[in-house]
Amino acid sequence: MPLSSREVRLNRRPVGLPSAEDFAVATVELASPQAGQILVRNHWMSVDPYMRGRMYDRPSYVPPFAIGEPLQGGAVGEVIESQSPDFAPGDLVESMFGWREAYVAPAGAVTKLPKTGAPPQAFLGILGMPGMTAYGGLLEIGQPKPGDVVFVSGAAGAVGSTVCQIAKIKGCTVIGSVGSDDKAAWLKERGVDEVINYKTCGDLTAALKAAAPKGIDIYFDNVGGDHLEAALEVARPFARFIECGMISAYNDTAPKPGPKNLIYVVGKSLRIQGFIVTQFMGLKDQFVQDMAGWIGEGRLSWQETVVEGVENAPAAFLGLFTGANVGKMLVKLA
Ligand code: NDP
Repeated sequence: MPLSSREVRLNRRPVGLPSAEDFAVATVELASPQAGQILVRNHWMSVDPYMRGRMYDRPSYVPPFAIGEPLQGGAVGEVIESQSPDFAPGDLVESMFGWREAYVAPAGAVTKLPKTGAPPQAFLGILGMPGMTAYGGLLEIGQPKPGDVVFVSGAAGAVGSTVCQIAKIKGCTVIGSVGSDDKAAWLKERGVDEVINYKTCGDLTAALKAAAPKGIDIYFDNVGGDHLEAALEVARPFARFIECGMISAYNDTAPKPGPKNLIYVVGKSLRIQGFIVTQFMGLKDQFVQDMAGWIGEGRLSWQETVVEGVENAPAAFLGLFTGANVGKMLVKLA
């Protein structure tokens, strides 16, 4: 069954904050799947901050996006036609063929979604890559202990909101930083002890000191910049810094100077460790079991911000840099 599909391509490499003109929407006609292939119609796709890094032409842990080619990213969809014994029409699958409405691909390039009570798009968020980022980063690198004080920046986002809740489950005191009072209210509802609105708090270091008078034991960094400096200032001796992301720097056109108080790493014996989520794939079974358990017990929940239509995917992506999302930013395609 041939099908036409709209897809979003990289039109040119963004300079600074991306704009709509950096993207182009094109329509392609898909051929019928050949032996070993499947035709999939995407229902949901993910936009993620790391995609900004792939828009630069520079060496990284993943190759850059090519100009004129469709972007890539997480997506979940439904098999429409299958020439593979492993898939049947109606199967729900996860792939990296996001930013397009439909695609034909080798069966081996997609994974069948496990049958759980969770909605399929949860596999792009809490049960997918962002959830694993939170779980692996906090538990493996942070090694939280009951009573630890954990500071999380980007705390109402897909990763941050999951970190906050897992840290609470582990018996920690949690302080989040967010860019709006609505986001703060949601985190308070979820049991986060203190939430700082970094846009209205004035001096961030002073606000963090007030929220954590005895200092912090763990910093889960999604933001970098002034948040990292504040965390260095307030860290207790032997604090662990989990360097997950630094979104405040993703659109910089020139490198900024590093934290001016990095010298604390020595005097406070701090441990600063970055990671890429793929390092934690060996934890997948434990992750699914723990997360499903905590969701079932009502101890872990999530929010979604949904934008409709592949043509609006660039706007959804840009919204990540202005804080337009509460929880996971998703694009609904069908
Ligand atoms: P989010 O859902 O957290 O969305 C991004 C959020 O970042 C926005 O909603 C906004 O919230 C905040 N933000 C944007 N610009 C700034 C800024 N200049 N200063 C402070 N906050 C800002 O995205 P994810 O949960 O998907 O990702 C969170 C972080 O984790 C990112 O840094 C990402 O790159 C990283 N990451 C790392 C992975 C890894 O393997 N290391 C894997 C996945 C994600 P607000 O309104 O609060 O400002």
